[in-house]
Amino acid sequence: MNSIEFIGVTKTYGDTIIINDLDLAIRKGERMILLGPSGCGKSTLLRLISGLETVSSGQLLLNGEVVNEVDSGDRSIAMVFQNYALFPHMTVKENIGYGLRINKVPRSQALKQIGDAIEILGLEGLEERLPKDLSGGQRQRVALARGVVKRADFFLLDEPLSNLDAQLRGQARKELVNIHELYGQTFVYVTHDQIEAMTIGDRIALLNEGVLQMLDTPHNVYHRPANIFTAKFIGSPSMNIMEVALEGIHLKLGSEAIPLPEDWQAQLKGYPHSKIKMGIRPEDVRLTKKAGNAAVPITIKYVEDYGNRVGYYFDVEAEMIGIIAEKRYQKGEQVYWRLTPQKWHFFDSKTNRSLGYPVTWKERS
Ligand code: ADP
Repeated sequence: MNSIEFIGVTKTYGDTIIINDLDLAIRKGERMILLGPSGCGKSTLLRLISGLETVSSGQLLLNGEVVNEVDSGDRSIAMVFQNYALFPHMTVKENIGYGLRINKVPRSQALKQIGDAIEILGLEGLEERLPKDLSGGQRQRVALARGVVKRADFFLLDEPLSNLDAQLRGQARKELVNIHELYGQTFVYVTHDQIEAMTIGDRIALLNEGVLQMLDTPHNVYHRPANIFTAKFIGSPSMNIMEVALEGIHLKLGSEAIPLPEDWQAQLKGYPHSKIKMGIRPEDVRLTKKAGNAAVPITIKYVEDYGNRVGYYFDVEAEMIGIIAEKRYQKGEQVYWRLTPQKWHFFDSKTNRSLGYPVTWKERS
């Protein structure tokens, strides 16, 4: 059974459409990531699930029941916010136990659940402190503990790690996954950070301007993006996209006419337009000094050294960047872009939708 289901859900504020006719089913016990740029409607979706907002049209189901009219307090929800929202005058222990007290959970059971949460989140010794006497990382763990302790069916997290520094964030990601593995609740996790999305999510729902762009595993979102928005949003630097001409069984790239391999010929057969958009990730660009059949001559126009990797900019139809491990070439140097058809992506030049992948490819790696 799906534990959360949006069926044709639209949310408007006045005349502004925030969520547009959304169909999205979240499975019981999965970690679902809501990802997208700021303002795309991620938090609005969490607020709809929690009951803090109501849908304008369509249906929202929790555990198979329509909850459009069900109050927030009657939904089995725990929420963790970006700013943690701890009560400043309550101790760590009181903050964690607050929801249990409100829900009149018997004292002995509440103490057990609070003790468990304190242990799981490594908050021993801090029970009597006030939030002002905690570090950012500790406050964040108290906020998580307050969510964990409720044992709700749905654990909703709204950018819970964004106030932490990079090192703590890495650790907190692992803690979150551990918590999920212990309790198995349905997690809905809002972020605009693709690393969090890729590492925490069982599946990612990528949104843009209130419209679902793709719903799939992190692996597929990266390797088989459904459209150019997804292709460019995931991965850093973004996927190179260029418009190329499709001439029979050849691709026109710069001055070269590159024969399409058979698997791509079969996939693109019957495509009605002569223009097509081609995508290649910077990390999939191969650069070489050797000329060859499937190699396009290029001139390096700019070099960026990131320490562990080096980026080379060049122009072929559009500005491209290739990233390789070592510093091998100089600005102004003439080299070859060696084509790697197994790393190509193609998109319709009008709709920006993926034209799919050769059927003979079972799994990309
Ligand atoms: P995200 O979480 O993806 O950054 P939000 O869901 O918070 O985005 O907001 C989506 C859009 O809805 C934004 O343009 C925001 O300004 C707008 N919005 C959010 N809440 C309200 C509100 N109460 N009234 C009017 N507009 C709102």
